[in-house]
Amino acid sequence: MLKPPKRPENRTAVVELEGVRKVFDGETVALDGVSLTVYEGEFFSLLGPSGCGKTTLLRILGGFEVPDAGHVRIAGQDMKNVPPFRRPVNTVFQNYALFPHMTVFDNIAFGLRMRRLPAETVRKKVAWAIELVQIQGLERRRPHELSGGQKQRVALARALVNEPKVLLLDEPLGALDLKLRKQLQIELMRLQMELKITFVYVTHDQEEALVMSDRIAVMRSGRLEQVGLPEELYERPKTAFVARFLGRSNLIEARATAPDRVETPHGPLRVRGGLVPGRRYLLSIRPEKVRLARTPWNRPNAVIARVHDIVYTGAENQYILEAPGGELVAYTLNADISEPGYEEYDYGEKVYVYLPPENLVVIDEPIGNEPGTATL
Ligand code: ATP
Repeated sequence: MLKPPKRPENRTAVVELEGVRKVFDGETVALDGVSLTVYEGEFFSLLGPSGCGKTTLLRILGGFEVPDAGHVRIAGQDMKNVPPFRRPVNTVFQNYALFPHMTVFDNIAFGLRMRRLPAETVRKKVAWAIELVQIQGLERRRPHELSGGQKQRVALARALVNEPKVLLLDEPLGALDLKLRKQLQIELMRLQMELKITFVYVTHDQEEALVMSDRIAVMRSGRLEQVGLPEELYERPKTAFVARFLGRSNLIEARATAPDRVETPHGPLRVRGGLVPGRRYLLSIRPEKVRLARTPWNRPNAVIARVHDIVYTGAENQYILEAPGGELVAYTLNADISEPGYEEYDYGEKVYVYLPPENLVVIDEPIGNEPGTATL
């Protein structure tokens, strides 16, 4: 992680949503009762697949959509009947939405001039914003004379120059190539930390959300599936959907036989405990937590499998394993050293798999309705 985790305790709420609902055309439920608090200075991401309601939520915060039910408060003020331009927020859109006939300077100055600030103040503030996003020298160009990355910097400057309490960003890096995207991710994080503005950031890119955010809300079909710190969502997903949406997971159906023991398609396994005997659960284990060896483990939670497929990604070898209880995926680091845990395996080779109890996350969802789940 590039920054220490920011926990929300003892912080001031800036964005408060309560039971927000939005239905389009009387049938498409875009938001199904969303309640959420974002705190001052947070980099907060809304993450989820296409159509889950992220943009609708952001547009409701910006005042571009009116909720059918529920309350929205920003900086302590109820936003009912408050038009977009009177809200203490600014939005950065994926498609930049710059005024095509205006120069870079005039685009950035637009909001300040609307507020009728004196020309000298406008000049100073625009110069500050231009330096902030490092586009010095481009002031007189028009949008069609800029690259995608430069356009997005102008859009950012145009939003930041108004010093909003909350900056709403709707997939702002979505149209950029990977290298530029990575570079701007770091710049956005730097800006956010420097200016201490609250960011509400929409993305469907899980890696982007994990790298950039203080907290993430994973959305699914108009609802919040889980809200938490990036490492909480990754290490302790509460649902199979979160386990699958953030990275890859092995999902295994289980029935508790004791508080720390379960029966699974891979045989009996030990887990950390706290289970209700007789109850059904799902277990999730990340592929990088699955351990492989050429010799038997001689301990519980060992499974014998065969290498079915190998995906070489450069940094990792990803093994798709066939076990009697179903498929397992394991990643090993391509470290080029011959120590236990770093061995390389061939197609068809027999491997001894160990599923460490401390890395088996128990999900309180009984049925493995997600594809690829090992079922009992
Ligand atoms: P994406 O990542 O594809 O942008 P999203 O998570 O932002 O998706 P939304 O754009 O919020 O999703 O859409 C949520 C649901 O509401 C979708 O089913 C979408 O088709 C529908 N929807 C959004 N805006 C409208 C609209 N103006 N009229 C009708 N339906 C809409």
